[in-house]
Amino acid sequence: MFLPTTKEEIEGLGWKGLDIILVTGDSYIDSPYVGVAVIGKILLDSGYKVGVIGQPETSSDVDIRRLGEPRLFWGVTGGCIDSMVANRTATGRRRNRDDYTPGGVNNRRPDRAAIAYTNLIKRYYKKDTRPIVLGGIEASLRRTAHYDFWTDTIRRSILFDTKADYLLYGMAERSAVELAGCIKDGKDPRSVRGLCYISKDIPDGCLELPSFQESAQDKDAFTRSFHTVYNNNDPATAVALAQRQDTRYLIQNPPAPYLSQKELDRVYGLGYERDAHPYHRKDGEVKVLETIRFSISSHRGCYGECSFCAIAVHEGRRVRSRSKASILAEAKEMTRHPLFKGRINDVGGPSANMYGTGCERMEKQGCCPKKSCISPQVCPRLNFGHAEQLSLLKALRGVDGVQKVVVASGLRHDLVLADKNEGERYLKELVLHHVSGQMKIAPEHSEASVLRQMGKPNCDQNALIKFKELFYKFTKEAGLSQFLTYYLMAAHPGCGEDDMARLRSFALKELGRLPEQVQVFTPTPSTYSTLSYWTGCDPFTGKPCFVEKSARGREAQKSILTGPCIKKEKKEAFDPKRLLKNSKFVQALKSSHCNNKDAMGTQPDARRRGSDE
Ligand code: SF4
Ligand code: SF4
Repeated sequence: MFLPTTKEEIEGLGWKGLDIILVTGDSYIDSPYVGVAVIGKILLDSGYKVGVIGQPETSSDVDIRRLGEPRLFWGVTGGCIDSMVANRTATGRRRNRDDYTPGGVNNRRPDRAAIAYTNLIKRYYKKDTRPIVLGGIEASLRRTAHYDFWTDTIRRSILFDTKADYLLYGMAERSAVELAGCIKDGKDPRSVRGLCYISKDIPDGCLELPSFQESAQDKDAFTRSFHTVYNNNDPATAVALAQRQDTRYLIQNPPAPYLSQKELDRVYGLGYERDAHPYHRKDGEVKVLETIRFSISSHRGCYGECSFCAIAVHEGRRVRSRSKASILAEAKEMTRHPLFKGRINDVGGPSANMYGTGCERMEKQGCCPKKSCISPQVCPRLNFGHAEQLSLLKALRGVDGVQKVVVASGLRHDLVLADKNEGERYLKELVLHHVSGQMKIAPEHSEASVLRQMGKPNCDQNALIKFKELFYKFTKEAGLSQFLTYYLMAAHPGCGEDDMARLRSFALKELGRLPEQVQVFTPTPSTYSTLSYWTGCDPFTGKPCFVEKSARGREAQKSILTGPCIKKEKKEAFDPKRLLKNSKFVQALKSSHCNNKDAMGTQPDARRRGSDE
């Protein structure tokens, strides 16, 4: 069932009102890929009456009064993507499209949506309304003092900026149910794990971070604060944190324990419509459904720890996988959907080939704070084979009514190569059964110094070339016509124009093409790369690093890679030094960004962002 979004639906359900109203910057899409739907369904399953208001009008009360006032609390989220990232390009221009809005026009989601919606509720329900609880990625990644690219400043915790009552961070199913229970029973919710709140004092046992004011003025203090927040993100080891914002403190309770496999299976088995609510559907197609409607999320978390990715902070570093039975049950349910045509568009997670992997230490004691699981080498204690995923994919291929199962989530090609037992068999199976024309991988760069800064030192040129050779060997053996596409990044901290020229040379010489999927690095809140961008230093060594900050320079880096290919480049073994010396050619490449539509504001790939590899 859809959660109600009109008064008529509430009456139709025989309900007298709602316990909880969730307000979101997306249209209401009932899918296990959409946080509002998942939180709404788990609360419903726990006995609460929940309604949803998607993309409310902020200049009047027409939407926010639509369902009345909730008995327990308001839940507010900017949506599946931070609203500033959803609305603005890396150069600050407003995006034209929004894949979560009916009809696709970006005209419904306000900038800083969590602030706009909290103000909206307070404006029309006055101060004594029920508590307002922030959630979702925007709130989660802005929960402490953070760098905001769009104002080029350190901002306070979003809880202070919105003046909401509580904030739930991370994957908040458990915390949301506990919070609802506390409010319903009249208990103080301030001990709920995964919750942030505002306090006049610091409770016993809290670790105090450098204050917001200190973080804003002193980059070393901000760096210390960032490391402490990052290192207190594992439920097994984290302690409560406190950060002074003005005269009061933000208190961050330790994160909620991860859902067990049984609990995760329950979340995904709650029955989703896999569609936009008719209230929104009448205004046009919601494009993101093309991708997520018939996709399956097999696991959460990623121990890849790429510096530009917020998955470790939001979802956690430990991989938690669903049971095979639960995933197969979801696939069977999909086959009964009236729009299902036999194709599952994706089975994966933040990084597809981490399904069913992990290590005993991370399960029992939490992830090692001072050691990475796969970088620069795969940790010997990591159980990372591909056997589990191979078995899952085979079983999915056998489900009645399923004709094709695609693995579209990115995968860590270095892990495929590192798996000496099953790695090649895994890639062969993907090539034979699970690629739909093209397989996407995200090497991001070719240059060792840039890759190191990105936290990907083991994804070097040799690994990429070897993976490419294997892919095309298996493709040829199978008599298929399919190809690899590469996600690459420009203007990451530590990357200069000469690095981009060398990447261009590598792409032409070794990959045989200039890439189409090039992203200009966006300093989104709460990543190590963003910390580098702000401080101009490597956050681990403290050494200064080059950071391209001008919008023109950032676009120019992209254009060096994507600029039109000249005949000479194709014919000769390409020397990047000569390219840089050829100022006429470089200028031509740089200025080509003026004609580059993608740089001018097309929609971000939601799947790549956040869950990208
Ligand atoms: S023991 Fe190795 S695999 Fe396990 S958490 Fe530590 S670094 Fe990661
Ligand atoms: S970019 Fe991919 S591999 Fe890297 S941390 Fe994020 S999800 Fe993991």
